[in-house]
Amino acid sequence: MDMSVEGASLTSGRTRRPSREEAEKAVRTLIEWAGDDPEREGLLDTPARVVRAYEEFYEGYDKDPDAILTRTFEEVAGFDDIVLLRDIPLESHCEHHMVPILGRAHIAYLPRGKIVGISNLARLVDIYGRRLQTQEVLTAQLADTIDRVLEPQGVAVLIEAAHQCMTTRGIRKAGVVTVTSRTLGCFRDDPMRHAQFLSLASSATSADFSMQMRG
Ligand SMILES: [Zn+2]
Repeated sequence: MDMSVEGASLTSGRTRRPSREEAEKAVRTLIEWAGDDPEREGLLDTPARVVRAYEEFYEGYDKDPDAILTRTFEEVAGFDDIVLLRDIPLESHCEHHMVPILGRAHIAYLPRGKIVGISNLARLVDIYGRRLQTQEVLTAQLADTIDRVLEPQGVAVLIEAAHQCMTTRGIRKAGVVTVTSRTLGCFRDDPMRHAQFLSLASSATSADFSMQMRG
């Protein structure tokens, strides 16, 4: 498997993956740490359920982000303008507290001959999202991967997300939305393209989004 720089650092230092049994035992320990009794009827199957949930939350480690962008179309009937996906649902977990980051990603690129299936751009968000993340790193990984694999004239990524580590613990500020962006190529160098991206990405839905995050 082709390991990207980020991919390599994700696995470095991991000598052996724990067994399912060991993972379930760790969850039992956390239940006890929370102050409950893992032998209580309602909690008996919880370690197994949590471990299965972790398989979904973190399935991105087993997937190759470059591979899903390599199937491209070159026949684009002269299409030479921006492709923008707005409001791609984003679910991730913060690497500091392992609690959800929920939000939306907006991704634009200006092709240079190669067009990728739009569902694959959405899948890219899942691959990087379903890992332990910071929003800043996730934003950079999305932009850099598209830039490296598709070699477009430019790529822009904007993420707006709420971090449950801020809303349910710590400073407990509900409704705070973190916005991060990374622009490369024409979206960084050409003010007209930059403005075009921002106006396409920030629509009326942004207001709905803040309301939803507050609710
Ligand atoms: Zn956190």
